[in-house]
Amino acid sequence: LSTPALQPLSAAKLTIEKTADPKPLKEPHELVFGHTFTDHMLAIEWNSETGWDAPKITPYQNLSLDPATCVFHYGFECFEGMKAYKDANGDTRIFRGDRNMSRFNNSATRIALPTFDGEELLKAIAEFVKVDDRWVPRGQGYSLYLRPTLIGTQKTLGIGPTSSALLYVIASPVGPYYPTGFKAVSLWATTDKVRAWPGGFGNAKLGANYAPCVAPQVAAAQKGYHQNLWLFGEENYVTEVGTMNCFTAWVNEDGVKELITAPTTDGTILEGVTRDSVLDLARERLVPQGWAVSEKKYTMDQIKKAADEGRLLEMFGTGTAATCAPIKRVHYKGEDISVPLQPGKEAGPVAEQMQKWIMDIQYGVEEHKGWARH
Ligand code: PMP
Repeated sequence: LSTPALQPLSAAKLTIEKTADPKPLKEPHELVFGHTFTDHMLAIEWNSETGWDAPKITPYQNLSLDPATCVFHYGFECFEGMKAYKDANGDTRIFRGDRNMSRFNNSATRIALPTFDGEELLKAIAEFVKVDDRWVPRGQGYSLYLRPTLIGTQKTLGIGPTSSALLYVIASPVGPYYPTGFKAVSLWATTDKVRAWPGGFGNAKLGANYAPCVAPQVAAAQKGYHQNLWLFGEENYVTEVGTMNCFTAWVNEDGVKELITAPTTDGTILEGVTRDSVLDLARERLVPQGWAVSEKKYTMDQIKKAADEGRLLEMFGTGTAATCAPIKRVHYKGEDISVPLQPGKEAGPVAEQMQKWIMDIQYGVEEHKGWARH
């Protein structure tokens, strides 16, 4: 007997059940990240015998899961974070969703959850965003944050690949990260805990990577710093900042202006979509101006030395929430290292320029490589 082929995830099978009870929209100034959710959700069930069921858009609702469900015990969960933007014509654009889909599949593979055709999921997400169109806020800095989530749903305390899973997507309208312009952050370099390690799973967007990062974040806040800076190894390699990738601009030891970020080759760094966008634009637009752009390991001691020698130009974090988050100070081994900003501004020139380039693409002011599809 041959086993029937598993059904692939197919957007063509999508069904839509609209809410009879639409919620009132929040005023733009009331939007707090991740607090408000739209009227609907997208859900797709999977099981190991038949594959992916038909995607369903339904009213936003609670899940009902047995207390023994594997997601609650062993962390079978991965997720994505991406945004939809309203352009000047009122069209909705999703920024680089294909990158999120491939990262989502990589995360799922790392924890033995089922994978899917990313293009098909993107089509279903686009339909979901259409159904909740009135929730996509208009205006510069506003967006609809999308949270695709995949969980193992088998009811078992046995540890093994799950025989069933649920992929769902919820959406949350968000306001500008910097309502009154950039606000540079101070960082506490964490030297007693690590976020990720070579061969680990820091490069996967697993829920398991986030809860353990909260206590070091709280510790940094208690010392009066906005965020923590994650280092790795005895060399104190610079890895990530809070939940963002980290970029440093300096005049390197060869006297060349260089924009540098840690490489994604050893599993310690999340492959940020914003990171990739900054690297792409830097190669296109900064290299012709004489910059070097590098994905290379570098250490806190190199930053300290560059700062002491007046070669440190700027540092910033990158992520979907903020795009670029300028850094003004890093506490490392008992000392505050000052990171330059432009006079009278809360950002260095590279972060400021990147922010503008990327936002122009997100809001359709500029077309670039089909990054913001509508
Ligand atoms: N690093 C970590 C640990 C993150 O959680 C995120 C946010 N997804 C990022 C980097 C930035 O990734 P992106 O640019 O895709 O939002």
